[in-house]
Amino acid sequence: MTDHDLLELRRASRHFGSFRALDEVDLTVRAGARHAVIGPNGAGKSTLFGLISGTLPTTAGTIHVDGRDVTRLPVHRRVGLGVAATFQHSSLFLRETVLENVLLAVVRRTGSRAGSRDAAIAKAHELLDRVGLPARHGLTAAELSHGERRQLEVAVALGTEPRLLLLDEPAAGMSPAETARLTELIAALPREVTVLLIEHDLDMVFELADTVTVMHLGRHLKTGSPDEVRASAEVQTAYLGT
Ligand code: ADP
Ligand code: MG
Repeated sequence: MTDHDLLELRRASRHFGSFRALDEVDLTVRAGARHAVIGPNGAGKSTLFGLISGTLPTTAGTIHVDGRDVTRLPVHRRVGLGVAATFQHSSLFLRETVLENVLLAVVRRTGSRAGSRDAAIAKAHELLDRVGLPARHGLTAAELSHGERRQLEVAVALGTEPRLLLLDEPAAGMSPAETARLTELIAALPREVTVLLIEHDLDMVFELADTVTVMHLGRHLKTGSPDEVRASAEVQTAYLGT
């Protein structure tokens, strides 16, 4: 891990009417971390990601990326700062090919300064290779299995060359073999990519994460090492149910 904070939320809140989906959450993510966010359904995990990626406006509090206040920045400006997300509900272009989905992300990032379309295509192929979909590039995204679509979402997110990669339940609906491959892929990402991972599969969480944050009812409950979190009586009562 490197020695600075890449992401900092201070008292970040999101209200839906009088309901506090996220309630004054403080969270710091170190550059290079593999940081997992866990918590029961409805804890506010996806809402948290919405605030970080910019798809949901923040009701109160602040969000800084690399020391810069992004609280009011639109999604594309945050992508430009290196924030990329996969969402719990897919955002793929189902009628486009697998290659085209990745290419759109690569071109969006590099824009007109891209050397050539050939270079972008080569980059897209490399990313499909990396996520384990090399033979699928000519299919439409709609033709992929559920697990393959989730792999494609990771390739699309990587296409924007993120410094902060937000993964919202990437293993949901995956077979054990697909989950194992995804875990390997995340573990093999270079440390320049900081990973913030929401995941229900605790085996995956405890295999990958160096830091774990537990959320409950819209609030931050605990952040610590995997061992500290596992050992916390408070966490076990609220979440692990033991
Ligand atoms: P998690 O991802 O941890 O399961 P969410 O962040 O999706 O939780 O949701 C947190 C809470 O906020 C839930 O109770 C959910 O019903 C509520 N919520 C999420 N989005 C909305 C919305 N657009 N309008 C009203 N309530 C919402
Ligand atoms: Mg969620």
